[in-house]
Amino acid sequence: MEWLECEALAPEASIVHAFSTRREHLARRRGLNFTLGQGTARDDRHRRRFLRALKAADFLPASLRQIHSANIWQVVRNANGSGLLYTPCGAASGASQKSEPSGDALLTDEPGILLGVRSADCMPILLADVRRQVVAALHAGWRGTLARLIEKTVGEFERTFGCRPEDLIAAIGPSIRACCYEVGEELVDAFCGQFVHGERFFFHLSPERSPAGGAWLSQYPPGHSPPRSAHLDLVAAARDQLEGAGVKPSRIHVAEFCTACREDLFFSYRRDGARAGRMMAVIGIRPEKRDPGRWPRSPAQLPGRRGPDSIARTRP
Ligand SMILES: [Zn+2]
Repeated sequence: MEWLECEALAPEASIVHAFSTRREHLARRRGLNFTLGQGTARDDRHRRRFLRALKAADFLPASLRQIHSANIWQVVRNANGSGLLYTPCGAASGASQKSEPSGDALLTDEPGILLGVRSADCMPILLADVRRQVVAALHAGWRGTLARLIEKTVGEFERTFGCRPEDLIAAIGPSIRACCYEVGEELVDAFCGQFVHGERFFFHLSPERSPAGGAWLSQYPPGHSPPRSAHLDLVAAARDQLEGAGVKPSRIHVAEFCTACREDLFFSYRRDGARAGRMMAVIGIRPEKRDPGRWPRSPAQLPGRRGPDSIARTRP
């Protein structure tokens, strides 16, 4: 098995985390299905293999019905410890649920629960407060980012667990990057309307900048702009929200991979279409304190191998 780890989280013996790749699935069209009780028996076997490799086979897996929202759920064990209970955070109202609530972020401070999100081009984001032992897994595409999912989740660390944002480590996994993420002008408007520096999240490739620009421009009557192509940099938007919420820039780590460019490593919805597989990002707290004999104590004993390339690099 092979996966990607964040360099800042990997040495933390109390935290288990991973971003899966498609290398394990190259012979197959579909990705790893993390949903318990769904998918094929082969998916289920594969998922168990992955969790065993992470030494997290005993963890209770928590997952979401992902709907590109800003809904955040706190996960705890149920009264007898055999299952999970999901409670809506923040402005989200409604009753607790026993399985797969609709939302895009999971948060827990309980050891032995493995939070998981699936993605193909959207950003999988893992957050951890190692000091207070709180972790979160987020699925953030443009809709969730526009709805400030990332900033709200950091807020829940503070509100629910009394964490300090400056203690958080953020790992942004492989996702579609600006190079491949051309979007319509309505998204430019939406982000610029929602964020003070929204225009910084876009690269505009316009005819004026192209070598043949002059010829192009002349085709448009005065007062009419040539068509521009906007490329959305979702990672910039994620950084903006993390930093705005108080996370230190030096603690934000980004896996420098574009899912659409790296067909050898990742699934991509934009590249492969609706049938694209999904990668999985997971994070949990090892129940070290409760069961001292069973869990790795030092970084040297940590399970797993590094991914195909080095993963998270801190922005200089
Ligand atoms: Zn790309």
